[in-house]
Amino acid sequence: MNLLDSRTVMGDLGWIAYPKNGWEEIGEVDENYAPIHTYQVCKVMEQNQNNWLLTSWISNEGASRIFIELKFTLRDCNSLPGGLGTCKETFNMYYFESDDEDGRNIKENQYIKIDTIAADESFTELDLGDRVMKLNTEVRDVGPLTKKGFYLAFQDVGACIALVSVRVYYKKCPSVIRNLARFPDTITGADSSQLLEVSGVCINHSVTEEAPKMHCSAEGEWLVPIGKCLCKAGYEEKNNTCQVCRPGFFKASPHSPSCSKCPPHSYTLDEASTSCLCEEHYFRKESDPPTMACTTPSPVSTVKKGKITKNSISLSWQEPDRPNGIILEYEIKYFEKDQETSYTIIKSKETTITADGLKPGSTYIFQIRARTAAGYGGFSQRFEFETSPLLAASSDESQIPIIVVSVTVGVILLAVVIGFLLSGSCCDHGCGWASSLRAVAYPSLTWRCGYSKAKQDPEEEKMHFHNGHIKLPGVRTYVDPHTYEDPNQAVHEFAKEIEASCITIERVIGAGEFGEVCSGRLKLQGKREFPVAIKTLKVGYTEKQRRDFLGEASIMGQFDHPNIIHLEGVVTKSKPVMIVSEYMENGSLDTFLKKNDGQFTVIQLVGMLRGIASGMKYLSDMGYVHRDLAARNILINSNLVCKVSDFGLSRVLEDDPEAAYTTRGGKIPIRWTAPEAIAFRKFTSASDVWSYGIVMWEVMSYGERPYWEMTNQDVIKAVEEGYRLPSPMDCPAALYQLMLDCWQKDRNSRPKFDEIVSILDKLIRNPSSLKTLVNASSRASNLLVEHSPVGTGAYRSVGEWLEAIKMGRYTEIFMENGYSSMDAVAQVTLEDLRRLGVTLVGHQKKIMNSLQEMKVQLVNGMVPF
Ligand code: AMP
Repeated sequence: MNLLDSRTVMGDLGWIAYPKNGWEEIGEVDENYAPIHTYQVCKVMEQNQNNWLLTSWISNEGASRIFIELKFTLRDCNSLPGGLGTCKETFNMYYFESDDEDGRNIKENQYIKIDTIAADESFTELDLGDRVMKLNTEVRDVGPLTKKGFYLAFQDVGACIALVSVRVYYKKCPSVIRNLARFPDTITGADSSQLLEVSGVCINHSVTEEAPKMHCSAEGEWLVPIGKCLCKAGYEEKNNTCQVCRPGFFKASPHSPSCSKCPPHSYTLDEASTSCLCEEHYFRKESDPPTMACTTPSPVSTVKKGKITKNSISLSWQEPDRPNGIILEYEIKYFEKDQETSYTIIKSKETTITADGLKPGSTYIFQIRARTAAGYGGFSQRFEFETSPLLAASSDESQIPIIVVSVTVGVILLAVVIGFLLSGSCCDHGCGWASSLRAVAYPSLTWRCGYSKAKQDPEEEKMHFHNGHIKLPGVRTYVDPHTYEDPNQAVHEFAKEIEASCITIERVIGAGEFGEVCSGRLKLQGKREFPVAIKTLKVGYTEKQRRDFLGEASIMGQFDHPNIIHLEGVVTKSKPVMIVSEYMENGSLDTFLKKNDGQFTVIQLVGMLRGIASGMKYLSDMGYVHRDLAARNILINSNLVCKVSDFGLSRVLEDDPEAAYTTRGGKIPIRWTAPEAIAFRKFTSASDVWSYGIVMWEVMSYGERPYWEMTNQDVIKAVEEGYRLPSPMDCPAALYQLMLDCWQKDRNSRPKFDEIVSILDKLIRNPSSLKTLVNASSRASNLLVEHSPVGTGAYRSVGEWLEAIKMGRYTEIFMENGYSSMDAVAQVTLEDLRRLGVTLVGHQKKIMNSLQEMKVQLVNGMVPF
């Protein structure tokens, strides 16, 4: 790195000559005719020469050893006529260190001598004539330097010199990448034999294998590399960089030399992959290296049926020929033919299983796959087996008499069979395949000792799936039709297609959101004609309307409960599109109750409520939240059986005339909805429980409108402030208490539907528990006493009330004048107050305002909670 090059400096170099007639600056041109500064002196004929040339200050830029390269010509003294006595053929070079330019005026004797410079070749008169320049180049170095810069000085003591150029520089080892580590620009050490140890930094996407180091020599060369970096997993080395592995390639570890193509039956779609994924049905052991190909255990190929009854099929199979490791277990998948979306999986460590709980006379498809440490193999081909028909003789125990009668072997053979039974020779669960052969001859025997045991095998696990969703044992789960990409698929998954010709429409019974609701009859093959309700989709529907309309069928079709409206099927292949469900003679519950006000016994009403609660328990068990539970959405049949209906999708509340838009934009049936669902759309089975409490109130008040004519806003406010509907007239206290429980602000404190069902069951079993009513007088006094100023809670006495409004000083006067109950206080007028001696206008206002507030709440019929 140059610190100074006199050839490249344009203009004045700023060097000083002393004495003034010594060194002279002469403008010359170099070999390329570029102007250069030269300094010349030639006082060979004069005695005692001491001519100094001082450079300007030169920064050393942090270098502690600098080099000075001088180019000069020098005249041969022998070639000078008569001047030999004083003529010199050398000059001296000095330096002086200083941190700034202050050192300019120091005395010559403070300069430190670097060297005496002599010419290798001096020129003569002859050379001048031939114009031959005998240029000398001399390099000297100085160090260690300790200050920021220095001056150079050239002393002439009587020579004939032309100083053509002065170049001052230092040496560095330039930035370099070696062994994937970057080493920075490094200035050489001060000592000419010194090696500087320099640490490298691993380049992008590389990791340290061993700390990288190199040595920078005084000559500016990198020497002796130690340690190295390696491209990390997913990257490979190319041209001193780490390049990403392309999709389809991988590098598992920094030590692998380069990206490799994914091994057979594996792939990767990502860049920088460190391993490849196995293709479907191909596996690799966890302990296998990622360079290993993915393989598949050889599938189970031989499956044989064993005992078959009307409800079960037993199977056995042989271990695959090339299992590709030790088989840990088998997975057996089966489903009813053409019903593949609903399947069951059994896991078994044995090579035999019994699938039970099957439908009689139905074909089932079985597939088996093995799992080794390498993972699952592919499923076997499909094996079809059929359960015995309901009425046919089978190997089931119930069929034994038939078989025994039909086999005319008689008592002797029977004795043999009994002998076998008593000996118990085949009563272990290992009967497996062999016993199924015996099953032909000795059906009862096989039943006892055969596969029924395998069912209880603790090593065997059974899971049911529906459309990819796991079904918990015994509990089916509601599947949101929205999860289907194609809504039509959901409809046909859950609803039967009915031919329009099987339906007879009789009359219109109502109006639904999508079209008329009619009553009619359905005649299915092999069944008696029966009444049905038919919802139609009006003509000119949009695709979304059709989807939403059929959405209800997709939901309804998943339910199977006596208190949930039953779906018969749908008509989608012809127009009009229809949803056909069971017919509920008495229509919707709210209208029915209004029409029959006071006509039912409490037990009948509780029976209705019990049915609704039971239907709701079923829905909540399935994970379905109704969101619009209200008496208008309950249908009631001629036997007074109530069934939950109205299952919508996105339209869920759109068609409900009670649904109002909330400030958050949703449409919600305010009077039936729990506060958390109104406030932040927290719809859960617990919010359905709140709605159920309102339905109880509707039922017990024969279809009264909850919160009467209060506005929705007032309802929200009152409920938020802790007020609740009062008991309906003549309502059993236990039922009203249950309603209040359903209206707990904290949704976790509300009862669950199964608890509601059991409470109602208990009440029905013990009708005397329904005798205690929230009677008219206590109801009235309830209203009066409980309706206290908003936020202050109920007042048990006049004193408590007056204390609460800070008017306690008048308690005695009120009591003495006969206003000893809240009922009596409610009648107080301003005149009365004045008469009682409440003369301060502020106090009169306070008392009258408080009474006024209580009366407003009384009109609204609310009870603070
Ligand atoms: P929806 O669109 O479900 O609210 O039905 C509109 C009206 O049709 C209801 O209020 C009932 O009066 C009547 N309705 C609906 N479904 C049935 C049914 N399954 N049986 C009898 N009436 C029904």
